[in-house]
Amino acid sequence: MTFKAFLIKYAEIGVKGRNRYIFEDALVQQMKYALKRCDGEFSIRKEQGRIYVDVVSDYYDYDEVVENLSRVFGISHICPMIQLEDEGFEKLGKDIVKYMDEAYPDKKITFKVNARRARKNYPLTSMEINQALGGMILDAFPEISVDVHNPDVLLSVEIREHIYVYSIVVPGPGGMPIGTAGKAMLLLSGGIDSPVAGYMIAKRGVKIDAVYFHAPPYTSERAKQKVVDLAKEVAKYAGPIYLHVINFTDIQMYIYEKCPHDELTIIMRRYMMKIAEMIAKETECIGLITGESIGQVASQTMHSLAVTNEVCTLPVYRPLIGFDKKDIIEISEKIGTYETSILPFEDCCTIFVAKHPVTKPSLAIIKKHETHLEEKIDELVQTALDTDEVIIVR
Ligand code: ATP
Ligand code: MG
Repeated sequence: MTFKAFLIKYAEIGVKGRNRYIFEDALVQQMKYALKRCDGEFSIRKEQGRIYVDVVSDYYDYDEVVENLSRVFGISHICPMIQLEDEGFEKLGKDIVKYMDEAYPDKKITFKVNARRARKNYPLTSMEINQALGGMILDAFPEISVDVHNPDVLLSVEIREHIYVYSIVVPGPGGMPIGTAGKAMLLLSGGIDSPVAGYMIAKRGVKIDAVYFHAPPYTSERAKQKVVDLAKEVAKYAGPIYLHVINFTDIQMYIYEKCPHDELTIIMRRYMMKIAEMIAKETECIGLITGESIGQVASQTMHSLAVTNEVCTLPVYRPLIGFDKKDIIEISEKIGTYETSILPFEDCCTIFVAKHPVTKPSLAIIKKHETHLEEKIDELVQTALDTDEVIIVR
């Protein structure tokens, strides 16, 4: 059975009132972006609170289209459908029987017809349509039976300007379309957590930029490529990502040289946040995102997070804060970042880690030790910003 159109359902949340068109326009925009990845030609139309995708070309790959649309935030369901013209009820019945025959070669199924009449001048009521079409299907296929409570197949028939018929419903990711909230800067490392954090915030409609702190030659080109690859995976959901690659080596070395080694990670983390915020402010981001989770490592205890957070004036979104590692892994597997995340390339934090990093840093002491950096740190930060390499990841 080949479908030439899809009905796209979206969650009701956030689409009421005057903001509705903003939501719909953003959704259409993101759907266009997703369909651009697919072979074939498509057009999208909005009609009475519904969005439809029409297949314009002769050829397209059904699985590819469904897969790509199921990554568009804001979509609750994707329904491949057939579109019929109103040529009388007899003809409708015939077409519906044909649809059931093609869509369900095995007829040992139960079904229920669910008609909706958006066009009230249609000669039959919804109830009458249900009964009449149900009868025609029963007559055509002796093995099939009706189950009004828990049918295998819920056959939807929507009488609008055209008549839409569908019964296959593929779940979408939910959430809000990208572009309906502001933009935020994701601190993206090569690990498991930060891509998941980016996904979760993007799912609420937030556009994402990213920054990666690279420390060559201590971190390799392959480690950087891994981050680009992760950004690519996140971009499948979040749209194009501007990835800022910041050379962090000199800053890291300088901290290593001047500060106590058990405080290295925490001071480094403070400088990462500071620099990320500087780029964020220059690029109209109104928040930062990290993959931190309380207690996961020494730099993510409540005390450490408080000290790290202190350098930021923008809100820092930490969607994984209460998640266990296994729950984060589960999401990363579901969204397709896990395989890349576990590739064994060193990240810049692991090279210089102390054997016994502080777990309860004191802000006053950390600040005191940071004064050892006064001579050169501003210049090093400026150089890092000046040599920012921006990669547009699609
Ligand atoms: P992840 O799995 O995301 O790498 P992690 O468990 O390794 O996290 P940390 O290394 O403590 O944890 O990093 C905490 C957060 O800081 C990360 O989730 C990420 O948002 C950010 N971060 C860490 N290292 C980098 C880096 N090299 N570049 C950009 N952001 C980083
Ligand atoms: Mg990491």
